[in-house]
Amino acid sequence: MDLSKIESDIERVIVDEKALQEKIKELAARVDKDYENKDLLLIGVLKGAVMAVADLSRALQRHVDMDWMAVSSYGSGTKSSGVVRILKDLDRDITGRNVLIVEDIVDSGLTLSWLKSNLESRGAGSVEILAILRKPESAKVEVNVKYVGFDIPPDFVVGYGLDFDEKYRNLPFIGVLAKHMYS
Ligand code: IMP
Ligand code: MG
Repeated sequence: MDLSKIESDIERVIVDEKALQEKIKELAARVDKDYENKDLLLIGVLKGAVMAVADLSRALQRHVDMDWMAVSSYGSGTKSSGVVRILKDLDRDITGRNVLIVEDIVDSGLTLSWLKSNLESRGAGSVEILAILRKPESAKVEVNVKYVGFDIPPDFVVGYGLDFDEKYRNLPFIGVLAKHMYS
């Protein structure tokens, strides 16, 4: 994408492309080690986790299965309510599988907390979470996120899968959306 076209939409870059790719490699090495000689199923949460699953899976030095879920949190505007609706469910049964949920961001934690219990209740062997970003100051419920890329302030961010009105997902970095874009 021609970045000069969106320069004024982004207030500041908080994670640049190089830092992101280095972090992905670091997380992949930990996952490789933790799941050595074990089965591993990556479950990407659409659509925000598409970039993360694509990069993480290619950084892993092992076979890995992938499946996808799309969920939508009921609530007004940008605030999550914790009531989650499944828009697209998994293609296959996960009984006994070691599941690693891959998410773009943990904000209130409500979506992931719901998703983790949902997958556990289907009889998965284990369910862990990897999130590229986490906003500790926005947490409403405690979720144990085993692999975190970066802790960031509670600003609205876009890029690397994260959108505003379905745009900016294809930025190779993560930036804070300029206030004039939504106020
Ligand atoms: P939750 O509040 O942790 O349930 O977050 C639910 C979802 O809100 C995340 O998976 C994202 O899709 C979206 N979200 C939260 N914060 C941001 C942000 O800063 N930018 C873009 N999407 C966000
Ligand atoms: Mg999401």
